[in-house]
Amino acid sequence: MIAPIMPTYIRADLAFEKGEGCWLITGSGERYLDCGAGIAVASLGHAHPQLVEALKTQAEKLWHTSNLYRVSNQERLASMLVENSFADTVFFGNSGTEATELSVKIARRYWHCKEQPERKNVITLEGAFHGRTIAMISAAGSEKLTEGFEPLAPGFVQIPRGDIDAAEAAVDENTAAFMVEPVLGEGGIVPLEDRYLKLLREICDRHGILLILDEIQCGMGRTGRLFAHEWAGIEPDIMAVAKGIGGGFPLGACLATERAAAGMTAGTHGSTFGGNPLACAVGARVVEIVSDPDFLQDIRKRAGYFRQRLEALVAGHPDIFDEVRGAGLMLGIKCRVPNSEFIQAALKQKILTIAAGDNVVRLLPPLIISQEELADAVMRMDRAASSMGT
Ligand SMILES: *Cc1c(COP(=O)(O)O)cnc(C)c1O
Repeated sequence: MIAPIMPTYIRADLAFEKGEGCWLITGSGERYLDCGAGIAVASLGHAHPQLVEALKTQAEKLWHTSNLYRVSNQERLASMLVENSFADTVFFGNSGTEATELSVKIARRYWHCKEQPERKNVITLEGAFHGRTIAMISAAGSEKLTEGFEPLAPGFVQIPRGDIDAAEAAVDENTAAFMVEPVLGEGGIVPLEDRYLKLLREICDRHGILLILDEIQCGMGRTGRLFAHEWAGIEPDIMAVAKGIGGGFPLGACLATERAAAGMTAGTHGSTFGGNPLACAVGARVVEIVSDPDFLQDIRKRAGYFRQRLEALVAGHPDIFDEVRGAGLMLGIKCRVPNSEFIQAALKQKILTIAAGDNVVRLLPPLIISQEELADAVMRMDRAASSMGT
């Protein structure tokens, strides 16, 4: 008999009642070190006092009015994002997929308004992940996502990542945009090289097409910069953000330049819940904290330490681990054993890690994790690896 919850997930038989910073606590009081952060969502850890305060204060005042009226928290958060990024304008939704989907809508609308409606196609990378709607599984194109869900949405072309000639060759008179994750997340924590991102930007400029970045997982301080593309010194035309921006409250955003969003006039897009006062109260507090240059600098410092320790861990268990990769506090360990086996062993040491593609174990701790907690994480993973007895 099917469970009341549709069985689309393989869940660990584990439930948490409470969270404190980087720790999740079960009903019986067992404490787990959270190096997954709810898939890069709890960016400031669990029950961060400032976020709790922001949510409580708003909850006592007003929950929802719809976008038929001005929403002051939304205006405040939009201004903060505009001030701290390439963007001139922001649309808020409730999830990542809504943000990537809107990115594609904006790109197509741009060409519609420029009277080149044949420019519909968005070029994406093999192994990418942009969400689970029909259009976004079509965008990623991998069989794992699409099987049985056909007919897929037309208008997406996948190319191998890192191959600039393939990118150049894929552009034709029907191309509207490229859409890429600066660090592929679900695909196995694969940072795109700065040089590759720069060349993509150059191709876009040369052909006048748009560059969409999906920073849903790698954005909001995760790599030690507010947005991952800052490392490459480039700017997109459109960017999708979600996960960490709400610190655990559902919130997504699509950021764009004035030029790219020129066609997004009244009535072209909408969302009932998007930019809700509760979500934006929390989001504004998250952005305030994460955009602080000192906080970002500190993330880079702790991330450097973590990486060094992980390199040593990998070197100490060459039969279990292959390599460390990633950026900032978005790290992946490619395994030589099935990643799920290591994750199970890690669970026994009470540390939460997440599987990703390419047999990678993802480490996405809250951005507030201390050096002592990072050392603790490495110790637990070391014990987990030793317990696997190879
Ligand atoms: C998680 C994720 C998405 C989808 O976000 P949802 O909030 O699950 O809809 C899209 N792109 C990337 C890169 C992601 O990591």
